[in-house]
Amino acid sequence: MTNNDRPRDFIRKIIDSDLENGRHAEIVTRFPPEPNGYLHIGHAKSICLNFGIAAGYPHTRVHLRFDDTNPSKEEQEYVDAIKADIKWLGFDWGDHLFHASDYFEKLYGFAEELIKKGLAYVCELTADEIREHRGTLTEPGKESPFRERSAEENLDLFERMRAGEFPDGSKVLRAKIDMKNGNLNLRDPVIYRIMHTSHPRTGDAWCVYPMYDFTHPISDALEGITHSLCTLEFEYHRPLYDWVLDHITISCHPRQIEFARLNLSYTVVSKRKLLKLVNENVVSGWDDPRMPTLSGIRRRGYTPAAIRYFCYRIGVARKDSTVEVELLEHCLRDDLNENAPRVLGVLDPLKVVISNYPEELEEDLPAANHPKRPEMGERKIPFSREIYIERGDFMEEPVKKFKRLAPGREVRLRYAYFITCEEVIKDDNGVVVELRCSYDPETRGGNAPDGRKVKGTIHWVSARHAVPAEVRLYDRLFTRPDPEGDGDFLGCVNPDSLTVMTDSRLEPSLAAARPGENYQFERNGYFCLDSGDSTRKRLVFNRTVTLRDTWNSRRRLRGDLLRGQQP
Ligand code: ATP
Ligand code: MG
Repeated sequence: MTNNDRPRDFIRKIIDSDLENGRHAEIVTRFPPEPNGYLHIGHAKSICLNFGIAAGYPHTRVHLRFDDTNPSKEEQEYVDAIKADIKWLGFDWGDHLFHASDYFEKLYGFAEELIKKGLAYVCELTADEIREHRGTLTEPGKESPFRERSAEENLDLFERMRAGEFPDGSKVLRAKIDMKNGNLNLRDPVIYRIMHTSHPRTGDAWCVYPMYDFTHPISDALEGITHSLCTLEFEYHRPLYDWVLDHITISCHPRQIEFARLNLSYTVVSKRKLLKLVNENVVSGWDDPRMPTLSGIRRRGYTPAAIRYFCYRIGVARKDSTVEVELLEHCLRDDLNENAPRVLGVLDPLKVVISNYPEELEEDLPAANHPKRPEMGERKIPFSREIYIERGDFMEEPVKKFKRLAPGREVRLRYAYFITCEEVIKDDNGVVVELRCSYDPETRGGNAPDGRKVKGTIHWVSARHAVPAEVRLYDRLFTRPDPEGDGDFLGCVNPDSLTVMTDSRLEPSLAAARPGENYQFERNGYFCLDSGDSTRKRLVFNRTVTLRDTWNSRRRLRGDLLRGQQP
């Protein structure tokens, strides 16, 4: 979709007008992840925004910049995963890959410039003392006793900080702005700290590292970014962003624009908290299919198209809000319903012997790959005397609305025949272990020539041909819509977020399934092969999402929340 035929959010309106009045001839945005964790669904919003803007205007580029200024938390593993996730989402930064660490030397030079101008000083207060001196929203801060050092002394100390003469935490470099400013970010913020830690890219070349608020505006300016889009919590940092660029010698001054971060019900979107779920073994890893990370939902079976559509649907605004996770699932179903081929899979099998079907006979019955898309073709599924049906599709004493198999009752086997339940076989504990049924050979394909009707249609697989599989069913990871509500997100982890079906039986075509391919198991939901644990010997499938869409009905009940945002 180009920018011309999509609704104008407030950011695109700003860009439109900047182009119209000739402020910029080229639009440059950036996505600046810190490689300290995996990307999550919130980042997808930012990625779709930055890359989406670039996709629409004629002269544009998007930079991928790793904001790698804290070597104690950052790892190459994260860098690789972030790149893979962005590509998977369908975006390409081309040659525009950058690292804040590429600018360490320049950043150091700009810090020296501030010192020479009397706008930065080396401070020896401890971190706690700095915090105490900072004051509060209602009380002004106190000036550091080191604030009035001469430029010469500061330059000398800063050089010796770089040379490694001082231990971690003993000194910092601070911008000299205003300890009484109403904005706490302007009360002499720390811009450099000492950290004797190797950096994944610069190795041991540095033991002083620049802080985010100093690094970010300068990195943006060095790259010629025109619009620096970030989430609302940075609004309060914008005066510092501008202060830095106003006080160093640099020709470019990007415009920082804040938008609302994505919050999603029943979900946490914070790398720090997601890391906690991993470290406390609440989940199996960053790519656990219950995680809202891009690697997690990819493994679960989410498609890039669904995520892009979701980001399009939620739009971009300046007001914080929480989007219901049902909308994300709705966007996913929208894609899968249209594109996922249909197959038959029995999650919880119950054996059925069709007594009047010849033992040696087997047939290949045609089945449509997609009922509404004939161009997707059809396949053959084997049928034989012994089949499996879903245990839940049989009731010995059917309740009123139950339309499926019961003693003496006739139902349709999807794509196959009508069968009638003749006999129920139980084990010593009274558990049903097998049904004996008869079939009507005249009903091949699922219709009776005499026009008689059945109330239920159920799915099945041929026992002899089916492939065994483990199937993992997922539910919400949290029991509360606002897991971060009282801060205790670990306290509301859903104990039933994973149900493992160990003995499922699937139609044989699924033996060739590959991760990343989506299927609808008819009547059961959408599934995909698990990329982590599945082997040729032991297939493992994930349920991506159930069939039932609660989004539309809920929306109808509460009025159209997304009015005006329909594509
Ligand atoms: P987290 O809070 O999960 O650690 P972060 O903001 O620290 O996220 P970064 O790697 O610094 O993570 O983020 C890269 C970009 O993604 C930033 O521009 C940030 O504003 C944006 N971003 C992060 N979380 C969200 C979100 N929930 N919604 C929209 N954009 C987000
Ligand atoms: Mg961050």
